[in-house]
Amino acid sequence: MPDIIQLLPDHVANQIAAGEVVQRPASVVKELLENAIDADATAIKLIVREAGKTLIQVIDNGKGMSQTDARLSFERHATSKIRKAEDLFNLHTKGFRGEALASIAAIAHVELKTKQEDQQLGSCLKIEGSTFISQENVSTPTGTSVAVKNLFYNIPARRNFLKSNTIETRHIVNEFQRVALAHPNIAFSFYHNENEIYNLSIGNLRQRIVAILGKKTNEKLVPIHEITDVVEIKGFVTKPEYAKKKRDEQFFFVNDRFIKNSYLNHAVSSAFENLLSGGYYPTYFLYLTVPTNSIDINIHPTKTEIKFDDEKTLYAILRSTVKHSLGQYNVGPILDFDRDATLDTPYHLKGTNSPNPRVSVNPDFNPFKSEEQKSIQFPYRREKNMEWESLYNGLDSTGIDFKSEIADSGLFSDEKANSKTYQVHKKYIVSSIKSGIVYINQQLAHQRILYEEFLENITVRDAMSQQLLFPLELSFNKVDINLIKEIKGDLESIGFLFEEILHDNIVVTGMPVNIVESQITPIIEQLLEDIKNDIPDTSFSQLDIMAKSLSKSLAIKTGTKLDLKEQEDIVNKLFLCKQPDSSPFGKRTFITVNIDEIDKKFNN
Ligand code: ADP
Ligand code: MG
Repeated sequence: MPDIIQLLPDHVANQIAAGEVVQRPASVVKELLENAIDADATAIKLIVREAGKTLIQVIDNGKGMSQTDARLSFERHATSKIRKAEDLFNLHTKGFRGEALASIAAIAHVELKTKQEDQQLGSCLKIEGSTFISQENVSTPTGTSVAVKNLFYNIPARRNFLKSNTIETRHIVNEFQRVALAHPNIAFSFYHNENEIYNLSIGNLRQRIVAILGKKTNEKLVPIHEITDVVEIKGFVTKPEYAKKKRDEQFFFVNDRFIKNSYLNHAVSSAFENLLSGGYYPTYFLYLTVPTNSIDINIHPTKTEIKFDDEKTLYAILRSTVKHSLGQYNVGPILDFDRDATLDTPYHLKGTNSPNPRVSVNPDFNPFKSEEQKSIQFPYRREKNMEWESLYNGLDSTGIDFKSEIADSGLFSDEKANSKTYQVHKKYIVSSIKSGIVYINQQLAHQRILYEEFLENITVRDAMSQQLLFPLELSFNKVDINLIKEIKGDLESIGFLFEEILHDNIVVTGMPVNIVESQITPIIEQLLEDIKNDIPDTSFSQLDIMAKSLSKSLAIKTGTKLDLKEQEDIVNKLFLCKQPDSSPFGKRTFITVNIDEIDKKFNN
């Protein structure tokens, strides 16, 4: 048998390695920013076009490279940062693998310009898909500029795998924020498609956080500082009353490197014990400095996880430090999450003679009658064995005929005159129906009702909106502001009205009819969070997520007492829905108990 093993050519090996290092444009951003930091730059500029798909450029004023080093930097395992294995346990740089530039150059068109301070001329080097194209002398400022164009141009499968520009940009912004938060002593700027996204001057930590997350953040920060033998902890947490329904503002840095660590996150959360209600998370920016030989960051090429020698001790110190600071800054008053839920229930059934403040509606629109009305079919999960179908035998299982049945009042109709509903355990609405008893889950049913109302608004495109007496100014961080800008049209189609969307705040002049003004911030936050988490790729599913998110936020909750009128309203509206049987999240909204089943129990 002939020998069959061969060494892979370098460009193939590099492409394979690139798969590890470069998952998406944001990975390139991270590597280039980190190289600039390792080069001792004090000002770093990031330029991105089309979410990094066509251009990612990082320009720094760091120490630059010699002509030979410039050439060598693109070789695999070429690094100036470590020399021997032991150095791995004494890392003071971000990079150490020597594979980023080689990997990036394997899957893109790269142009590097670099000059050291004592050089007259710098050099410009071009590489495309690991192939050396040219190197020549150029006049260029001291420092380095790396331009990465047409990422994944030679791996179409990877390129196609990239998400929408919205999502890829969000990843880039996240990466940029993490790096910028870790280095307030470096000036950063960030341009996307010629727009300035960030321009951060050198400052202290607080200034950097505020510059990134918006000026309102300032008043929310509680400083943290503790020095022990094993760790120094600096940074900020936000006061409990500013806790968010989202976790995207939780930052740990270890030796100036952003990391994720659920164990340490738990330590912080537990310091907030009893200060936050379920579903709310603290925001934090915590900077841990530990001896370089007490951690191992050599776990994963993307390096957001690191291993600590003594995580348990760290946990205890972190928890008590945060707790102590919260106490010291006399944080409070503690949010009263147990207040009477009915007081802030957005769902007020005010009777038919108090008209909805509709700004504009299409008077001809009838979602249930018009066949021509193009209504989008939104995806939802249908419960198997839907009992209501068999209940109302002979009726179309789409529920359309079912509605006319309700309209004819045949449904709740053994004794129509005293067709009563009861509320059980502030949770279920119980009513007698032809074949037995129906139990309706008030919260899930109301979610379904609101969901369809929102969808209706969206399809009509003339959403019901209530104008605010006074415009409301709300502040958000820049990422959220950008997201709001992107989905502004969709938000308007469900009833929000905006006067202005500025750098770190928005001015709201109108909102969907069923929202109470005091809830608008958490509702929008939840909405943004849901959109981020669901990562919709089309505006179609984005609208669906919005409708779902709002229905979840606004539905009356379990535990809310409902009067008779409110109960009936839910029952009636639920069965006018297109899909009354399930909540927008696929949960069953009601169950029925057949009279036969009841009979059987008595006959036992
Ligand atoms: P690593 O950062 O792990 O060493 P890279 O492939 O990212 O590997 O970079 C290879 C080498 O190129 C670095 O070790 C460094 O010497 C040099 N280099 C890369 N980027 C820069 C830069 N912006 N300024 C100066 N030198 C750089
Ligand atoms: Mg590097």
